[in-house]
Amino acid sequence: MTYQNYSLKQLQQIDAAHHLHPFTDHKDLRAAGSRMIVRADGPFVYDSEGNEILDGMAGLWCVNIGYGRNELAEAAYQQMKELPYYNSFFRCTTPTPTLLAKKIAELAPKGLSQVFFGSSGSEANDTALRLVRHFWALEGKPEKNRIISRKMAYHGSTVAGTSLGGMEGMHGQLGGAVPNIVHVMMPYAFELSLPGESDHDFGMRAARAVEDAILEAGPDKVAAFIGEPVMGAGGVKIPPASYWPEVQRICRKHDVLLMLDEVITGYGRTGHWFAAETFGVEPDTITTAKALTSGYQPLSALLVGDRIAGTLQEKGGEFYHGYTYSGHPVACAVALKNLEIMEKEGLVERVRDDTGPYFAEMLRERIGGHPLVGEVRSVGLMGAIEIVGDKRTRERFQPVGSAAVLVRDHAIGQGMMMRATGDTMILSPPLIWTRQTIDLAGERIARALDLAEADLRKAA
Ligand code: PMP
Repeated sequence: MTYQNYSLKQLQQIDAAHHLHPFTDHKDLRAAGSRMIVRADGPFVYDSEGNEILDGMAGLWCVNIGYGRNELAEAAYQQMKELPYYNSFFRCTTPTPTLLAKKIAELAPKGLSQVFFGSSGSEANDTALRLVRHFWALEGKPEKNRIISRKMAYHGSTVAGTSLGGMEGMHGQLGGAVPNIVHVMMPYAFELSLPGESDHDFGMRAARAVEDAILEAGPDKVAAFIGEPVMGAGGVKIPPASYWPEVQRICRKHDVLLMLDEVITGYGRTGHWFAAETFGVEPDTITTAKALTSGYQPLSALLVGDRIAGTLQEKGGEFYHGYTYSGHPVACAVALKNLEIMEKEGLVERVRDDTGPYFAEMLRERIGGHPLVGEVRSVGLMGAIEIVGDKRTRERFQPVGSAAVLVRDHAIGQGMMMRATGDTMILSPPLIWTRQTIDLAGERIARALDLAEADLRKAA
């Protein structure tokens, strides 16, 4: 590899001179220099200094079968030799997207049997937004075009993704969102439940915010509700069990389509192939990406329910939408191999029956009691640790977010990659983690919390 001819310092200088990073303050980056990850194997990544870091985020919520899988490299190589590219426009296709669409439909909840491919989660949500509006137009109701989403939702970084998402900072830089998208409260009991309110009641109240938004616009003006089953980038916010069934009941009552964004939760993360099953929802669309290829290739798949697909096929008329790389043959070949490995190794069942419950126990037993921790929560292999200054009142350290960044930096120093969102630490490890890996993570996180606590007490 050519990069080995460069020192870390040289690479950092080149990076600062030429490479703009996603979601980055470039002034800070210039001052600090970037961390160069150079290789990875199994659950570990290695930086240019030779540090071994346990990857608690599966890259960016995607490397579900772990690093170093030669079968995926082989699948890409074979496909590149045979047919590196052809498109699926103009009544053409190639074998791998065709077979992958069938495979996804087999794994998907009943009633979602058609698939539209893109290269990223953002693209897939862009497709989903346009598709549901197109659907209602074909149904003769073009004015039924409002989309309801949630505050703090993350649905991607394109203009449509940002507009669907509920991140204020992102909207501030948008200079005009896609019209007719509104955002309601999120189901985040840790901060938003009222004193004495049960989890069940809070979930019902958060769901009713969706109904209020539907009634305010008028049901004949509302196309769909979109939500992540578990809000990921917003801080692994797991809704109470009452939330999704009530949202679904409300959507059905008002004939509003239900769109799930499973870009993070799709393909096993919550212990089922799709979190729709975990939370008992039957959506009209499911957006997926990331773990579809375990991140080895960029690929997204929008799963489309029979009602929408049926209308497209019955009414006809071109849907003016698609990407050069929709159904990319190499990415689809890698996805097929990835899903085959997940099935062969029983990774989804393992998360559901063994590692998911063990991960929850580790968080509860080893982390939950720490003086800095206000709450731990998880579903499958997706978890959060709330950092607080006072366990009883849940008061945060000031400025908000600073304590979690400190924990994160200590965690990385201890060989544990995790992420901070506000004052919430988040974890989303590869599904290949074993009980031993979970124990190792527990040790490293506990040490990071101790070190952060010592710093915070010193500073106080
Ligand atoms: N939706 C969700 C729920 C996501 O978490 C993400 C990415 N983190 C996206 C959409 C956007 O995916 P991408 O970055 O591949 O565009």
